[in-house]
Amino acid sequence: MKVYADVLIVGTGIAGLYSALNLRNNLKIVMITKEKVDDCNSYLAQGGIATAKDKYDIENYVQDTLKAGQYKNNEEAVRILAEESIDNINNLIKLGVKFDTVDGELRYTREAAHCNNRIVHCKDRTGGEVFNVLLKRVKEKSNIQIIEESCLIDIIEKNNICSGGIAVKDNEVINIYSKVTILACGGIGGLFKNSTNVKTLTGDGISIACKHKINIRDINYIQFHPTSLYEKGENRRFLISEAVRGEGAYLLNKRGIRFVDELLPRDVVSKAILNEELKSNSECVFLDITHKNSQYIVDRFPSIYEACINKGIDMTKDRIPVTPAQHYFMGGITVDTYSRTSMKRLFACGEVSCTGVHGANRLASNSLQEALVFSRRASIIINNNIDDIQFNKLEIDESYNCVNASNIKKQNIKIALNELIKVRGDLKNELVNC
Ligand SMILES: Cc1cc2nc3c(=O)[nH]c(=O)nc-3n(C[C@H](O)[C@H](O)[C@H](O)COP(=O)(O)OP(=O)(O)OC[C@H]3O[C@@H](n4cnc5c(N)ncnc54)[C@H](O)[C@@H]3O)c2cc1C
Repeated sequence: MKVYADVLIVGTGIAGLYSALNLRNNLKIVMITKEKVDDCNSYLAQGGIATAKDKYDIENYVQDTLKAGQYKNNEEAVRILAEESIDNINNLIKLGVKFDTVDGELRYTREAAHCNNRIVHCKDRTGGEVFNVLLKRVKEKSNIQIIEESCLIDIIEKNNICSGGIAVKDNEVINIYSKVTILACGGIGGLFKNSTNVKTLTGDGISIACKHKINIRDINYIQFHPTSLYEKGENRRFLISEAVRGEGAYLLNKRGIRFVDELLPRDVVSKAILNEELKSNSECVFLDITHKNSQYIVDRFPSIYEACINKGIDMTKDRIPVTPAQHYFMGGITVDTYSRTSMKRLFACGEVSCTGVHGANRLASNSLQEALVFSRRASIIINNNIDDIQFNKLEIDESYNCVNASNIKKQNIKIALNELIKVRGDLKNELVNC
C-alpha cells in the first residue's frame, strides 16, 4: 500500500500532536502510532509542565535547568526553552487546557531542584488532560489523518535525504511518502525491566537512526526516577510523582528515619535511595505524606490516591513503598534548535530527540515543555520551507513486503539494546532480554 503526505509524523504523544497543530492547515499530514493513540508516555505524565512564571523568572529557570543537568546542557537550547515556555503555556490554555488555578491565577507547584514554584498542572494528571485537548483539536482538522497500530520499521532514504517512512499495520506494509518526516516516537523505557514508561516504547527511533547513520548523542544519559511504587514482581512501575515530595512528603528508610533532602535532583535522590536499600537489605524505602490534611491529599493527587488504594495503600494514612525505576532518556537523535536531524527533511522532537536541553539529568517537568517548544519550532521552519520541496518517489526495497513484521520489530529492539549496552554496559542487568 502507498500513502502520500506533505508531512509524516511518527508518534501521537504531545510532541507529535503539538507539531501537527502548529503546521499549516493546507498541508496533508499523516500521523502514525505504534499502538492505540493514547498508548504513550505523554498520557501518563502526572506532575506538570515547568515554565518561567514571568520574564523575571527566565534566568532562574535557565540556571536551575543547567545546574540539574550538571552543566552538560546546550545552553542555547536551554535559553530558548525558558524564553518560549510562557508562550507555549498560553497556547495550551487557548487550545482549551484547564490548568489548576487559585483566585483565577495559575497555581504553580514545586518540584525537586527548582528554586521556586513554577510547575503548572492539572491536579496529578497533567499529561492526560493536555493530551486529550490536543487530540480533540487534531481531530477537528480535516487535513490531519491518524493511523493507529502502525509501527514504523524504517525510513525511506537515499543520499541522506528522507522521503517518508515504512510502517507495518496488521502485517501489511505501508510505504508512506512524504516531503518531510517528523520522528516524535518517544523514549526507551520498554527496553528496561523496571520502568515507569509504557512498554511499547522500545527506542525504535534510535535504532532507525543508527541504521541510517543519523547522528545520535548522550545515549549514556538515562534518568531513573527515585519514587516509583514498589510492588513485588511488577516491572511496569506506577510513578509517584515528584510533586508529592514537592508538596512536602518525606522519604523514610525502613526504620522510619529521613536520609536525604527530598528536593535534591533526581539522580542524587535515586542514588541515596539505592544506597539506603543496600544498607538495610530491603527492596524499597517509604514516602510519607500522612502529616498533610487527608482531604487535601485526595484533592491534590486523585490519580495517585486511587492507584494506591487499588493496591491496598491509603496514602492519607500509610507510607507508600517506593524504589527507583528507569524513567526518562536525556539522549537521543541529535537535533538543532529547530529540531533538524543530520538527515535532510527529517526532524525529531520530544523524547526521541536530543536538543541538549537536559544535559546529564533532566530537571523535573522539563520534558513536556521541551516537547512543546521544539516541536513548534520544527513546524515553523517546515511551514516556511515545505513549498520548495518536491515529492521524491523512491523505489522501495521490495524485501520489506515479504519479511514478517514482528521479526523486523524485534530486530529494531535489538539494535537499540546493543547501542545502549555499548555505552552503558553497567546497565546490562537492568535491560530486557531479547
Ligand atoms: C509516568 C510518567 C510520568 C511523567 N510525568 C511527567 C511530568 O509530570 N512532566 C514532564 O515534563 N514529563 C513527564 N514525563 C515524561 C514525559 O511524559 C515524556 O517525556 C513526554 O511525554 C514524551 O513525549 P513524546 O511525545 O516525545 O513521546 P510519547 O508521548 O511517549 O509518544 C511516543 C509516540 O511514539 C509512538 N511510537 C513509538 N515507536 C513507534 C513506531 N515504531 N512506529 C509508530 N509509532 C511509534 C508511540 O506509539 C507514541 O504515540 C513522565 C513520564 C512518565 C512515563
